[in-house]
Amino acid sequence: MEEEFEGLIVGGGLAGASVAWHLAERGATHNGVWVLLESEALPGVHASAQNAAMVRGLVEHPGLRWLAFEGQRFWNRPPESLGLPPEAFRPLGSLLLASRPETAALLRAAAEAGKNEGVEIEILDPANCLRCFPFLEGTPFLCGFHAPRDGIADPAALLQAFLRGFRERGGRVETGRRVERLLVERDAVAGALLKDGSRLRSPRVCLAPGAWHDDICRASGIRSRALRPHRRHLFCTTSRPPFLEGMPGFVWHVDAQVYFRPEGEGLLFSACDEDAVEAGVPAVADEILEWAHDRLGVFPWLRELQVGKRWAGLRTFAGDRRFLLGADLEVEGLFHAAGLGGHGVTCAGPVGRLVARCLVEPSRRPEEAGSPAPLPAL
Ligand SMILES: Cc1cc2nc3c(=O)[nH]c(=O)nc-3n(C[C@H](O)[C@H](O)[C@H](O)COP(=O)(O)OP(=O)(O)OC[C@H]3O[C@@H](n4cnc5c(N)ncnc54)[C@H](O)[C@@H]3O)c2cc1C
Repeated sequence: MEEEFEGLIVGGGLAGASVAWHLAERGATHNGVWVLLESEALPGVHASAQNAAMVRGLVEHPGLRWLAFEGQRFWNRPPESLGLPPEAFRPLGSLLLASRPETAALLRAAAEAGKNEGVEIEILDPANCLRCFPFLEGTPFLCGFHAPRDGIADPAALLQAFLRGFRERGGRVETGRRVERLLVERDAVAGALLKDGSRLRSPRVCLAPGAWHDDICRASGIRSRALRPHRRHLFCTTSRPPFLEGMPGFVWHVDAQVYFRPEGEGLLFSACDEDAVEAGVPAVADEILEWAHDRLGVFPWLRELQVGKRWAGLRTFAGDRRFLLGADLEVEGLFHAAGLGGHGVTCAGPVGRLVARCLVEPSRRPEEAGSPAPLPAL
């Protein structure tokens, strides 16, 4: 069976859904049929459902700075036409801690850049930090960064808002539709072959399949961009110490690699483990809490809390940790919205805006569309 479409988006996580919404917002869905293909029965069940939901505007990586600022701004002031319910993003603030001078310098440079872009970040010395956040007594750090407009998102609500807007403007979302490989003819994309044998013909395809990006590239005979999935565990405790009352939306010790935030009656936390694995549903490793014991020592009380729920998810990124966004440099008509690593909730807005712009104005590179986040070197 062969059908023809204006464009295909592969993957219904936050990346693909945001691209789809931004395409619809630009009117692209009035000019022809765009289809978002999702292999699962429901969209957004992989990384977009397994994350810690923190919106963090201050990042160490200079190549991701602009996207993180823009992402934070996007969720604080979402486009009205997105119809996002107010509880979908709660600007509860964040506190980042650095204990190494190099990390403090990187975050300080990012904070200065943020200030120039109107992103509010307060730099706190340890005494000030302790005065504001007494629960840090006993935690080693050199410098604190308080970002009052960071916060906690409801990723399912963000995803639904993107997909609803896409559908309402004529876009099609098809679930249970796994792309086996892309159809490539004379160095140009021609559509996709699905697992059920259907051939969907289209001159434009946007790849947003999260952890499966590399698998699809290899199956399609396209040069792989080496985006690797990495497993990370999250834990929820069954209670929360009263002394954390009034804490910001989340606290992240960047050098110790531990973060935590309130979740229900307890805390959600991670010791930022990072194992390269195959794409799929990651198994939970029982020994990981034992492994995390030393890292958690910066918040010794955290080790005393009883852990209830736990799960693992995949963060997928390139070797240099830059996102892979925009037009493919080798295959005409192919676009990427992938490699969002641990920042895809924060950055979904600007990622979708940028890639949609590249899709409808194909001569554009992400840099030309306003992003200093170039494609990773091929
Ligand atoms: C433990 C953990 C904590 C995190 N915490 C945060 C955080 O606090 N803040 C933050 O900003 N980010 C965080 N992230 C990162 C964020 O979750 C991801 O960057 C983001 O969800 C990636 O979205 P995606 O759409 O690229 O991938 P996904 O959500 O994985 O979506 C890809 C979709 O493509 C589909 N697909 C795959 N192959 C095919 C195919 N062949 N055909 C059709 N469909 C296909 C999949 O089924 C899936 O639905 C975290 C991630 C993890 C794992």
